[in-house]
Amino acid sequence: MCGWKETVRLPVAGHRRCHIWLKDGICLWYTVVYGSVDGICPGGRGAIVKGLRRCLVVTLAVVLAVLSPATAGASQVHGHLLFAGGMLVGPVARYLADDPKLVRMYLLGAAAPDSLWMAHLATVPEVRALLKERYRVDLAQYVEPLPSPVADVHRARPVKVALSLLAAARTPEESAYALGWISHFIADARIHALVNRWGGFYDGDIGPDDARYAAHNSLEALESRHVLTRYRDDLDVKYFAEEDARSPGDFVVRALAAAYPVSPAFRPPEADAFIRLLDKTDALLFLSSRWAYYQGTHDPREIARAKGLLKRFRPELGRMTEVLTDLPGREEYLKTLVRSPFIGEWEIARKDILADGREILPLCVLYLWQRQHGADGADGLLERIGGKLRCLAPGDDLINPRP
Ligand SMILES: [Zn+2]
Repeated sequence: MCGWKETVRLPVAGHRRCHIWLKDGICLWYTVVYGSVDGICPGGRGAIVKGLRRCLVVTLAVVLAVLSPATAGASQVHGHLLFAGGMLVGPVARYLADDPKLVRMYLLGAAAPDSLWMAHLATVPEVRALLKERYRVDLAQYVEPLPSPVADVHRARPVKVALSLLAAARTPEESAYALGWISHFIADARIHALVNRWGGFYDGDIGPDDARYAAHNSLEALESRHVLTRYRDDLDVKYFAEEDARSPGDFVVRALAAAYPVSPAFRPPEADAFIRLLDKTDALLFLSSRWAYYQGTHDPREIARAKGLLKRFRPELGRMTEVLTDLPGREEYLKTLVRSPFIGEWEIARKDILADGREILPLCVLYLWQRQHGADGADGLLERIGGKLRCLAPGDDLINPRP
């Protein structure tokens, strides 16, 4: 909990480098009203403008998080960070050579498929219409409309996408990003199956009014609370505190063009617009993750006060935080922990995910090494990796129930 004379880092606006010795409620009040604390924040006027701009981005992030028609967030960013961190052992750790830059790319890759899912959402006309109708948000003000829809990488050929990333990786950064992406695949394959089992299968066509939508959202929130309660010390959250942490757009486009050969979205002239969109959805993913982290690390009274301030001074943002699924409070979490076996099963899934990752990621490292050194057998190895991924996601789909 943040208190008087503690360094405050806010999830909302431009304070990353401002160490402000104020009680966070007051600081948040200034942030909400002025976008920044002028005179205290070394960013000055520029930071104010930046802060206000980021408020708008947060609005959009929250809206997209609320919509969630495809449960791509079933395993939330913090879960993915935990799993990716747990797979960072043996040959994988040696391949990344403990280089912080490469580890950051690996963690970025571990979160990236959910950023791609938001990019997919932003190109669905029904979603844009719903945003306008229900939340009075005109997406066109924030994101230029793309001429062609972007496929959801969870449902449309996810195995091919994973293999294309590995095959297209040329630099150590790209290789690290591809490895992180595959850690996300491995986690989603088991966590989505688990959430489907407990929340009832949740189809992309089901709207936010369906009971299964609520069930999924609360299970996802419960998972986040669990990760932030039990594994907080194991989480490497530095990567999403980096404002400039962004996916390598050219590389992602190259891989997606290979995975979706008929889609014009990943080819010139449309590819540039897609890269700009990806940059925005990365920012949205990090900002909404910071809000979840804030919730997971602050007292319920602090969160309620922050929300009250937002509601009062930024009614639009306040409305959004009302409809967003909150992380369950600690008491509620502990009660659920005792009464429901969901977390117990999640823990079993966690062990299976780590075991899968520690088997598959070293094969990926071997493939990257073989290709880099022109060794024989790289293609066969890629096929073998594909076979293992298909076993985890039969039907080549990370969202639908297993056949
Ligand atoms: Zn995902």
